Amino acid sequence: MTKTLSQKPLKKTAKKENLSKKSSFMPDISIVVPIYNEEDTLPILWKRLTKTMDDYTKKTNKTYEIIFTNDGSKDRSSLILKSYFDLRPHQVRVIEFNGNFGQHMAILAAFERVRGQIIVNLDADLQNPPEEIPKILAKMSEGYDYVGSFRDGRKDNIFRTYASRLMNKIRGLITDIVMTDQGCMLRAYSREIVDEIARLHESATFIPALAYKLAGHPTEIPVRHDPRAAGESKYSLYKLIRVTFDLMTSFSLVPLQLFTFCGFFVSFLSSILVIYLFIRRLTIGPEAEGVFTLFAILYFLIGLLLVGIGIMGEYLGRVFQVSSKRRGFRIRKVYEKLD
Ligand code: UDP
Ligand code: MG
Repeated sequence: MTKTLSQKPLKKTAKKENLSKKSSFMPDISIVVPIYNEEDTLPILWKRLTKTMDDYTKKTNKTYEIIFTNDGSKDRSSLILKSYFDLRPHQVRVIEFNGNFGQHMAILAAFERVRGQIIVNLDADLQNPPEEIPKILAKMSEGYDYVGSFRDGRKDNIFRTYASRLMNKIRGLITDIVMTDQGCMLRAYSREIVDEIARLHESATFIPALAYKLAGHPTEIPVRHDPRAAGESKYSLYKLIRVTFDLMTSFSLVPLQLFTFCGFFVSFLSSILVIYLFIRRLTIGPEAEGVFTLFAILYFLIGLLLVGIGIMGEYLGRVFQVSSKRRGFRIRKVYEKLD
């Protein structure tokens, strides 16, 4: 049965014991930001994010931390992040990957180290403004365990906008995930969901979709969308296709099933052709030196082969789903203050 986005929140669950490394600082909110070659956007992000969160936490009497994962940046991002850690060592943590493992792996590595009870994830490029975070947090405080978002007036180029819309449509057709805008990464998660995602140790996944699967009371709200503050999109066409494949194969077996159905269909059609040619041979005689008979038999066999590969794929897909416990990233260094 398809899960729908909750309209009515449940009562807030009790605070769960924190599972991450021992530290005297246990903030209420953890902000997670993946970074790949963002030297131009980082200073603006830092200013606007800390201002928003400082104001918010002062008003609500809460505390927060920021976890940056540097996903193998080749520019000065690493140095800049280290300077933020030096500025606020109790509040900032920096995870340094030893290569580029992708945005979702960067978020996953941070999820394994969060200390807050509510975790907010956003991109570094300020396309989703940090000023929208209090809106997401206000929704979380109504009792939801996952607050997704969709872009209000998207500010990307036409190609990206339409390609994303198409991907959203395909994902909607082949999975039971209800999500208006899968590419919008400003989202908040409860600690329980984040712990569960970290425990699953997936090596190629799509965090918002996985969180949706695990959520008991998900919802989504519109958030503002701005053009990239600086630099260019870090997604090449290849990376976009890869992420889409991860999304499809992690959450659905429909692509494999389509393959199998296709095989059955081809076999069915060609068996009709075989029967027709057999009757024709008995009544009229052989067609042009039996060439078409040969084709018919060949197509029948190809159909059977497709069915066979499809069925094998079904099993392979299932085995893959349960056995992919490989780590999808490697950490070089972590800047954090634990006492
Ligand atoms: N990112 C990352 N690793 C990558 C690609 C992107 O950590 O391999 C980060 C990037 O720094 C940004 C976020 O993921 O914080 C989203 O990337 P981007 O804004 O380039 O994506 P787009 O908005 O074009 O989808
Ligand atoms: Mg962006």
